[in-house]
Amino acid sequence: MNEVLYLVVPAFNEKEVLDDCIKTLTNILDKMISESLVSSESKILFVDDGSKDNTWQIIKDANKENKYVKGISLSRNEGHQKALVAGLFKAFDDNADISISIDADLQDDPNAIIEMVKEYHKGFDVVYGVRSSRKKDSFLKKFTAEAYYKFLKLMGVELIFNHADFRLLSKKALKCLRMYDERNLFLRGIIPQIGFNSTKVYYERLERKAGKSKYNLKKMFTLANDGITSFSLKPLQFIKFLSYIFLLGGLLSLIFCPIFVGFRYFDLSIIISVIVFVTGVLLYCLGTIGNYLGKNYIETKRRPLYFIKEDLDEEK
Ligand code: UDP
Ligand code: MG
Repeated sequence: MNEVLYLVVPAFNEKEVLDDCIKTLTNILDKMISESLVSSESKILFVDDGSKDNTWQIIKDANKENKYVKGISLSRNEGHQKALVAGLFKAFDDNADISISIDADLQDDPNAIIEMVKEYHKGFDVVYGVRSSRKKDSFLKKFTAEAYYKFLKLMGVELIFNHADFRLLSKKALKCLRMYDERNLFLRGIIPQIGFNSTKVYYERLERKAGKSKYNLKKMFTLANDGITSFSLKPLQFIKFLSYIFLLGGLLSLIFCPIFVGFRYFDLSIIISVIVFVTGVLLYCLGTIGNYLGKNYIETKRRPLYFIKEDLDEEK
């Protein structure tokens, strides 16, 4: 087959796993080329997301020795989603026929790449890598991740359960992704909206090969918030619903409390607790509105998503 595959790998301070990652992905590409599943022009494209360790140096060295390895480095740490987008857009600009995004830590089983490409050849434009189990994840990670998927579903966001960012996109699907011009990126929400024929490949989620998770709590919360506010207006609608409940409750208590409880109802401590509670609710509502307003503010500025500091293609 002549389809050029790009494996897009974002990397932020991944010096401990990179050698292993390059070796494993090279073997997978060799295997697929020998089985004529993809073209020998296929590449592993690393996106160095402003690493502080020698991640970029490892990528540069690998680029000299390994014919598959390409690399771009971003001007600063932009976060996983933007690094992924930078890599996917570069794959598109390089005219790749297929792209597969995969984390550098090899937690997502690289062997599933072969299955994904086989599905592509059956006519699928999007192939989602889905975790069949999270046995290796800590209880807290598993619980919060699964609860989050369920919560998003409740909010009306279309998501693939237990799928993160390990996925294959055909050139056709990538072209559509290129048309999205959002600053707040939540790829796993955007891709299902693109449509086309899609399927899933299941794999066992492994432990990180080395190093620590690069998703700190702040990054996790930002991603979680983007997932909700970029795709659902339900939190805003909920405020309206809440206002009805408070209006009704206030009205009923005004009518009935003086009748049943008499003037003791106006006890100072009760009034203070009601004020504190209602202030809390109001502030929460204001915060939710502010959240959306803030996102609008970011979107209207249309600032560039990222800057590429170095592209190894340009140095040759
Ligand atoms: N990553 C990145 N920029 C960041 C954080 C993470 O490019 O700001 C990369 C990281 O190097 C890895 C992938 O995103 O290849 C997923 O990160 P990680 O494995 O730390 O997340 P976890 O699996 O713990 O959710
Ligand atoms: Mg990981």
